[in-house]
Amino acid sequence: MPSPEPLSPRAILARLVAFASVSRDSNLPLIDWVEGYLAGHGIAATRVPSPCGTKAHLFAQVGPSVPGGVILSGHSDVVPVDGQDWSTDPWTLTERDGRLYGRGTCDMKGFVALAIDALVRASGRDLTRPLQLALSYDEEVGCMAVASLVDAMVDGLPRAQAVIVGEPSMMQVVTAHKGGLGFSVDVIGYEVHSSLQPYGVSAIMEGARLIQWANDRNAENAAAAPSGLAAQFDPPWTTLHVGTIEGGTAHNITARKCRFLMSFRQVPGDTGWDDRFLTAVAQVDAGMKAIRPEAGIAVERVFDVPALGPETDGAAEALARRLTGDNGQHVVSYGTEGGQFQVRGYSTVVCGPGDIAQAHQPDEYITLDQFAAGEAFVARVVDSLCDG
Ligand SMILES: [Zn+2]
Repeated sequence: MPSPEPLSPRAILARLVAFASVSRDSNLPLIDWVEGYLAGHGIAATRVPSPCGTKAHLFAQVGPSVPGGVILSGHSDVVPVDGQDWSTDPWTLTERDGRLYGRGTCDMKGFVALAIDALVRASGRDLTRPLQLALSYDEEVGCMAVASLVDAMVDGLPRAQAVIVGEPSMMQVVTAHKGGLGFSVDVIGYEVHSSLQPYGVSAIMEGARLIQWANDRNAENAAAAPSGLAAQFDPPWTTLHVGTIEGGTAHNITARKCRFLMSFRQVPGDTGWDDRFLTAVAQVDAGMKAIRPEAGIAVERVFDVPALGPETDGAAEALARRLTGDNGQHVVSYGTEGGQFQVRGYSTVVCGPGDIAQAHQPDEYITLDQFAAGEAFVARVVDSLCDG
C-alpha cells in the first residue's frame, strides 16, 4: 500500500494539541497516534512503557543504522489548564493574529510536530547518518522518567553525535541550564505536653534545623565568588529553597509531624548537593533518636533534573550554531531533559522555536514565524545528515 500524503507540520500540531496529554494522565492516546502516523509512512517506532503501564516513551530512527546521527528530543506531556482563563479551547489549535494558540503549542508540541514531520520527510531522503526521535512522558513533573528512554536508546540505537532538545529558546543555541533536585522530607517527632519539652521531640523544631542549614548554605553560596559559567546565571550561585511546610497539632504539644519540600537549583558542575543534604539529615536524625529512638527523618527524592553544562568542542553546539547562525552565549533558568542525555554521554544543546514566556500560560501560543523558523531548522538538520 502506498504511503498516504504526509500531513503538514501544522496539521500534525493540531492533532497533538487535541490530545490533552497532561502529565497526571496517560499519554498513550497521543503515543498511539504518533506510532500509527509513523507506521503509515513506513517508520517503525519503539515504545518504552512506564513502570505502571499507563504511559510510554517512544523512539524511532530513519536512515542507515550507523553512529553519528542526530536526536530530536521532545516531551509529550503538558501542564494542566485548571483554573486558567483561556479565550479559546486549549485543546483546539486556533490561529489568530499570526499566532497558533493551544496548550503545548510552545512547550513543546510545536517542536514535536516538526520532529515527526522531519522524520517522515527524511525517510524519503538519501541519508548517510540517521535521524532519531526521542519522545518522552513526565517532563513537566521532574524530568526523571526520561532516563529510561535515554537508556533504551543507548541500548537500541547506534549512538548519535548530537542531541537537540527543542524546548522553546527562540531558536537560540542554549548550552547550559541549572539543575533541579527536590526532596520531600518527613520529620517524625515524639509528642509530649510542651511543658515537658525536653522529654519529647518536636518535628517542627528539628525540621527547622534543616531549613536553617539551607539558609546557611544560601548565604555561603551567595558570598562565594562565582565561576565564569555561574556568572552567566541570575542569581550566579546554587540556591536552596523550602517551598511548602506543614506540621504540628497545637501550641502545647511537641509536634509529632512536620513535612516540607526542600529543593535545590544547582549551577552546572556544582554537584554533590544530595550527599551534603543527606549528611545534614543524618546528623539531625541522630540527635532526635538520642532523645527518642522512634523519632527520625525520612526523605524521598521527588525530582532530579541534571544540569546542562557547556561542552568543550561539543558536536551538538557546533551543529546548532552552524544551522542557526547563532553564536551568542545563552543559558536559561528552566530545566530540560537535556541533562539526562548529557550525563549519558551525548553531546546536547537546547534549541527550539517559541518563547518560554508563553509556556504554561493561559492562551499559550507559538507565533507562525517561530514555527516556520523551527521548520527551517529541522529541515537543515535533515540536510546535514545527507552530507558525506
Ligand atoms: Zn517543556
